[in-house]
Amino acid sequence: MNMKSNYGQILYEDQDHKFIWLGADEKEDTGVIMTNQYLIIHKGRGILLDPGGLHLFSRVVSVASRFISLDNIDAIFFSHQDPDVSSGIALWLGVTKAKIYISELWVRFLPHFGLIDTNRIVPVNKPRMALPLGGMDLEILPAHFLHSVGCHCLMDPVSRILFTGDIGAADIRYTGDSLMVEDFESHLPAITGFHKRYMASRKATSRWASMVRRHDPVMLAPQHGRIFQDENVSRFLDWLGSLDCGVDLLDELYGDA
Ligand code: FE
Repeated sequence: MNMKSNYGQILYEDQDHKFIWLGADEKEDTGVIMTNQYLIIHKGRGILLDPGGLHLFSRVVSVASRFISLDNIDAIFFSHQDPDVSSGIALWLGVTKAKIYISELWVRFLPHFGLIDTNRIVPVNKPRMALPLGGMDLEILPAHFLHSVGCHCLMDPVSRILFTGDIGAADIRYTGDSLMVEDFESHLPAITGFHKRYMASRKATSRWASMVRRHDPVMLAPQHGRIFQDENVSRFLDWLGSLDCGVDLLDELYGDA
C-alpha cells in the first residue's frame, strides 16, 4: 500500500463507514517526524483524530474536504496535549462546529493555543467513554502515561482500527513508500528509542497491551510513522508489553550524576 500524501487513503470502507488516513507531506517534516491525521466518517458525520498543529492545517483541511464537508465534522479527538497533536485547536473550532474530546487533565492548558470556546470541550474523565458519531459509538480507552499523564486512544468497533496516538510512533520521514509496517523486525530500530525514552514504564505498557488484546483490533494506527496490521498487531503488543522503558531505565538516565 503506497502513501499518496496529497489525497489521503481509505483504510476501511463499507456503505455507512470509512476510516481514512489524511496523508503526510515531506516538506512538513521539519520538526516532529512524519505526522499522521485520520478521519472517521459514519453515516455522513465525521470525526478528526489528532488533526495536528498550525503548519499542517491547510493540507488537513483540503484532504478532509475531499471526503466530507467541514460542517459535518461533529467531533475532534485529541489523544493528548502535545503541540503536534492539538495546537491547531483554535483554527479547527473556527472552521467546524465540532466538539473537542481530550483528557480532563489538559483542558485548562488548551486556551494557551489560542482563544477558544471551552463550552465545546468534552473532558474525558473516566476509563471507558463512548464518543457518539452518526448514531454509533466509538470507544475512548485509556493510555495513561503512554506517554502523557492524561492520554487516550480511540477504538472504532466497525473498522476495528485502534487509533493509538503516540503509541507505536516511528521516528521516520515520509518517503512515499508503504504506509504499513511490512517487516516488524526491520521496523524496530525506528520505534525502539522513542518508546524507551517517552513511555513511562513497563507497568504502563503491559497494562495497555493486555487491554488492547481484549479489544482485538485489526490495525494499530499511530500518530507518527507506519500502521501495524494483521500479525504485526500482536507482534507490537508483545514487544511493547515487555519493554523496559521510562522509569525502568532511571539508572541509565542518571548515569554517574
Ligand atoms: Fe506526544
